[in-house]
Amino acid sequence: MRLCVTGGAGYIGSVVAQTLVDEGHDVTIVDNLSTGHEAAIPKGCRFVKGDIRDERTVIKALSQGIEAVLHFAALSVVADSVERPLDYFDNNAGGTLRILQAMKQCDIDRIIFSSSAAVYGDPDRLPIEETAPCCPTSPYGHSKLFVERMLRSCQAWGLRFASLRYFNAGGSTGVHGEHHDPESHLIPIVLDVALGKRKQFSIFGGDYDTEDGTCVRDYIHVHDLAVAHVLAIDAVSKGFSGILNLGSDKAFTVLEVVKTVQRVTGREVAHHIGPRRPGDPQALLASSKLAQRTLGWVKTCSSLEEIVRSAYKWRLEHPRGYSR
Ligand code: NAD
Ligand code: UDP
Repeated sequence: MRLCVTGGAGYIGSVVAQTLVDEGHDVTIVDNLSTGHEAAIPKGCRFVKGDIRDERTVIKALSQGIEAVLHFAALSVVADSVERPLDYFDNNAGGTLRILQAMKQCDIDRIIFSSSAAVYGDPDRLPIEETAPCCPTSPYGHSKLFVERMLRSCQAWGLRFASLRYFNAGGSTGVHGEHHDPESHLIPIVLDVALGKRKQFSIFGGDYDTEDGTCVRDYIHVHDLAVAHVLAIDAVSKGFSGILNLGSDKAFTVLEVVKTVQRVTGREVAHHIGPRRPGDPQALLASSKLAQRTLGWVKTCSSLEEIVRSAYKWRLEHPRGYSR
């Protein structure tokens, strides 16, 4: 198929784009490189450098017989969104509006959207099913929920969509890995401490109502996410529209992540308990049974050990990430 991947120079988008190229799809990437890297763009992809909020850029990316869009481009740091909410609504909701307008104009009726567990906020019950109430605790979560509502509304003109609510993506493939500057995500930060690139790190809150007082998350390997996207394109092409959780269905506290990194690397990780981070929900744990049933999705590498091991290997092999 001819596919457009927005945000394909970013962490998850580049892994998915590589998987699509490997499966024989024709891939066009549109990215403004605000948080992504040109070096992450897989060989064989056409690259349109530009912003998804710019109509000319988007039309250029979509006007080559594109059949479906995989939409990753977004700002995605919870605490940052608390500091500058309007940028998040502008980029994430405004950018998606531009994409949907251009899709309608170009007669493209299929989209796979990168949503987030952040739409749930602080859930009443774990694990979280797709039917759980959505009460985001951050502007980032609100921006994702707003887009989901746009997608539903656009079914009126024939849009079909899969909104994939990822839990915490982690890990790397041999070629692609996680490189954000500055980095805000837990696993790469803890690995940097283990590797001596940072002296220590702060655990955001030790007084949550969890097993050891630190926040709980569900970590899913980026390769397993990529496989779900390939299946989702097929499902949407056969008529599916809806929302699916993508997680490992296993919960880990921040301290358990630290212990896993220490075990995998054989190195100590200096840390201290600091204040809570604004916008952070206490605990997120997926039920991804619906995705497994609907897509036939089988996870093969989402144990926390495997996620950390692959991320560690990538950081050893790419000490400067994608920077030259
Ligand atoms: P990332 O920052 O690595 O990638 C985002 C990419 O989008 C970057 O290459 C960036 O340059 C590009 N981009 C951003 N705004 C743009 C714009 N206006 N125009 C063009 N390009 C733009 O982030 P990621 O971790 O790969 O996340 C990808 C998607 O998955 C995002 O939508 C994010 O909200 C969602 N998500 C990520 C996680 C996670 O754990 N990483 C969890 C849930 C959801
Ligand atoms: N976290 C932390 N210290 C850090 C970075 C993250 O304690 O330096 C915690 C954060 O509070 C959350 C978990 O690790 O509970 C995962 O955070 P991350 O930013 O990786 O992803 P998020 O859950 O915000 O999408």
